[in-house]
Amino acid sequence: MSDRSSQPAGRVRGDAPYALRRGRLVNVLRNKGIEDARVLDAIGRVRRHEFTEDGFVFRAYFDEALPIGKNQTISQPFTVARQTELLQAEAGAKVLEIGTGSGYQAAVLCELGVRLFSVELHASLLERAKGVLHRLGYRLRTKAGNGYEGWPAFAPYDAIVVTAGARSVPQPLLDQLAIGGRLVIPVGGPDRQEMLRITRRSEQQFDRESFGIFSFVPFVGS
Ligand code: SAH
Repeated sequence: MSDRSSQPAGRVRGDAPYALRRGRLVNVLRNKGIEDARVLDAIGRVRRHEFTEDGFVFRAYFDEALPIGKNQTISQPFTVARQTELLQAEAGAKVLEIGTGSGYQAAVLCELGVRLFSVELHASLLERAKGVLHRLGYRLRTKAGNGYEGWPAFAPYDAIVVTAGARSVPQPLLDQLAIGGRLVIPVGGPDRQEMLRITRRSEQQFDRESFGIFSFVPFVGS
């Protein structure tokens, strides 16, 4: 048995007991159909237990969404893995995330070596997420605000991921895609959404692919 009670509060919690569980989670995701080795490796490196609320740490490596306050959730690892895989973001790519939430998806994207920009509606959630991300050494730019508008100052983006369920595809996000860029966004009603990947082929032409049904917390203001 390891004794971690001597660790000061606020420091990175001991990782050894969690590394094993992360390995198991990676196997679960592989069995559920995640194929991209870079994504699986990233999931295998990110300390998800740092992003969950204290009462839920023991469930951090189950493949399930968990509450993070403000009626929001840290997304299910499978969902994070699937969205990340669909983004096809290479190291150095410029990526915009809408819905920072706990910061977990942001950490997975940082592990891929992308240049990450992330927008969150709830300032209090963003503050918490920024604290965890910085403590763990992840570097990204964040902004509190309505992600419906994207983040025009740094556009165009090679990839944009929306981590809340939208009623429709926000036009500003399409406008902020680079040619060849991809927008991964769940679109539908309040309970279930279709995972769409929209690829910008030219100034005016967008291709749309569908990747099954998911269930996200609502995207506010779409
Ligand atoms: N990527 C997050 C998932 C959080 S859940 C994670 O890994 O934990 C979705 C998040 O989207 C919530 O934090 C919610 O506050 C945020 N959100 C909802 N509507 C939004 C909007 N219009 N603009 C920005 N963020 C929004």
